[in-house]
Amino acid sequence: MEEMTDPLSDQGALAESQRCLYCYDAPCIHACPTGIDVPAFIKKIANGEVASAAKTILTANILGASCARVCPTEVLCEGACVLGHEYEPIPIGRLQRHATDFITKRGISVLKKPTETSGFRVAIIGGGPAGLGCAADLAQLGHRVVIFEKERDAGGLNTRGVAYYKMKPRVSLDEVRLVESLGVEIRREVNVGVDLSAGELLSEYDAVFVAIGLGCGSRLNLPGESGPGVRSALDFIRDIHEMPLDEVAIGHSVLVIGGGNTAIDAVSQAKRLGAPSATLAYRRKEERMSAYAFEVSLARAADCRLLFQAKPLEVLRSAEGNLTGVKFVHETNGKEWIEPCDQLLVAIGQNKQDHWLKSLFPTLELNSQGCVITDPLTSRTNLPKVFAGGDCANGGKEVVNAVGEGKKAALAIHQMLTGKTPIPTLQSSRRGIARPPAGAGLWNPVRKPTH
Ligand SMILES: Cc1cc2nc3c(=O)[nH]c(=O)nc-3n(C[C@H](O)[C@H](O)[C@H](O)COP(=O)(O)OP(=O)(O)OC[C@H]3O[C@@H](n4cnc5c(N)ncnc54)[C@H](O)[C@@H]3O)c2cc1C
Repeated sequence: MEEMTDPLSDQGALAESQRCLYCYDAPCIHACPTGIDVPAFIKKIANGEVASAAKTILTANILGASCARVCPTEVLCEGACVLGHEYEPIPIGRLQRHATDFITKRGISVLKKPTETSGFRVAIIGGGPAGLGCAADLAQLGHRVVIFEKERDAGGLNTRGVAYYKMKPRVSLDEVRLVESLGVEIRREVNVGVDLSAGELLSEYDAVFVAIGLGCGSRLNLPGESGPGVRSALDFIRDIHEMPLDEVAIGHSVLVIGGGNTAIDAVSQAKRLGAPSATLAYRRKEERMSAYAFEVSLARAADCRLLFQAKPLEVLRSAEGNLTGVKFVHETNGKEWIEPCDQLLVAIGQNKQDHWLKSLFPTLELNSQGCVITDPLTSRTNLPKVFAGGDCANGGKEVVNAVGEGKKAALAIHQMLTGKTPIPTLQSSRRGIARPPAGAGLWNPVRKPTH
């Protein structure tokens, strides 16, 4: 369960950074949803300016340390690296980790809390990657930001969901502290909708960013599902993050149902935690799995068994009610069989939070999937002061997408509140992040700050 990728040594980082071609208009920048200026930070590592490299990363992406560990770099920055056509691509993720770990280990602060404040106040619902990404940029633009987080720890799924062998929760919690060091206030254990109403937020704050992520894991809705031994893979993964590892309940024969990254993370972690047998069953062919090929190969390397075209029909129990197995049917030949198991983890997706969203903001527009409809450039919703981003708007992508959407919202909120366009950074201009269209209402100041 240790982090599976070793950090680069100083010499290794130097050697890898010197291989970079420092492309003009580099494809790796375009491939990053937060637009990190990859060639610039790699050049700084090559020059021995590692803290400055970290500043370049964190200015674009406040969760640069966790993205260095959890991003599917093989399909993002490293997948776009031109060297990859003929040689090994630059290990951008590992170099990013090298730079961000360098400052964390030495306690170096590279981002400054602004000395002047705008007087505007922004509320953020949810302290996951989207909320933190938005908060960090707004705070650095001088606004007063309060994050309302229902859990005891902020960080969202970055703290409680990402596989333990990719990143320890400590990295995510360090990033939460970094955001707080910029002046952001996090009010923990405040469940918006229960402890606080939308009306209170809208009257007390100049803008609201909704970043609540997705809800609990979906159920199979099969006979026999309710009862001991069956749980959501998300709850199992959460236990791994919150309990001593030797206290996490692991079956002898673990069966995971699903074909996405959560399913593959769950089966890998069950095996790594000592389950003698861990099997994943997916109802379609392997090529239809939404899990990344790299993650699938990790599960295979951990000795997990993978079954395809296996549609579950019924959860089987003994006369005493104990879980004994799952009956499946093969999707093409119609053959039925029983997979014995004493622990079943369900990983077929997370529920949307459409009921919560509608009860809090009755006129907020949602799509047919129950996600908030937002403007792709500004993360703005149909409600004037309300923006949204991350999983609750994109339906469930990656940490880096959530941060990117939070950043877009921060820039758009800043422009809405002040009427000013911040000088676009290299990253924002390259990625086409929010420029004010002439005369558009959104960009006009809403009012002068009164507090
Ligand atoms: C098992 C699993 C593994 C994953 N692995 C990876 C990976 O390896 N790499 C990767 O890039 N991505 C991964 N992801 C996806 C990634 O974690 C998400 O895309 C990302 O966390 C979304 O960020 P978010 O801020 O939108 O939502 P979340 O991370 O879900 O954060 C939402 C926050 O809002 C809070 N909240 C919710 N409702 C309320 C309320 N009413 N009041 C106050 N607070 C509230 C929640 O407590 C939470 O802290 C994984 C996801 C899962 C489920």
